[in-house]
This record gives sequence, C-alpha cells and structure tokens, in this order.
Amino acid sequence: MNKGIYYYVTIATDQEGYHLLHRQECKRLPAKQDMIFIGTLYNLNQALSTARINFKKVKPCIKCCIRYSSPVIRESVRPVHHFPQKMI
Ligand SMILES: [Zn+2]
Repeated sequence: MNKGIYYYVTIATDQEGYHLLHRQECKRLPAKQDMIFIGTLYNLNQALSTARINFKKVKPCIKCCIRYSSPVIRESVRPVHHFPQKMI
C-alpha cells in the first residue's frame, strides 16, 4: 500500500456551497487556519467519503485531487474501421 496523503477541506465554501477537498501539496491550498485536516488517506474516494461525514457538500479540488488521483484520458477515442466500408 502506498503511504497516505494528507487531505484538507476548506472551511469556506464556493458560490454553490461546496467545500473543497485539497491534498497537502496543492498549490491552491488556503492558509492553515482556513482548512480542516480530515486525515491521512490513500485515495480520493476515501478522502471524499471521510470529508462528507463532516461536510454535506464537498468536491475535490481540480488542481490537486482530480489531476493526480484519477488519470482520466481526455483524448477522444476515434473508432477504427479495420475494414473500410466502400461506398457502393
Ligand atoms: Zn487543491
């Protein structure tokens, strides 16, 4: 198992009332007094569910959580025709 990552939740909320979940190394991490340390966790889902025990609306920070935790391949996949259909 990998070592845990320190996760924080902001006390302030955004316009929609969401608290942001941050990893310790996030460049957008607010000041320490503006955050709550929720624990040393091993993945984003674990951190989110822990955060949601304490906060109703939590969403992961795009900069740190989404970018590093879930490598989403954003390239659109083009279907490949192995046998090109000819127009008859
Ligand atoms: Zn962040």
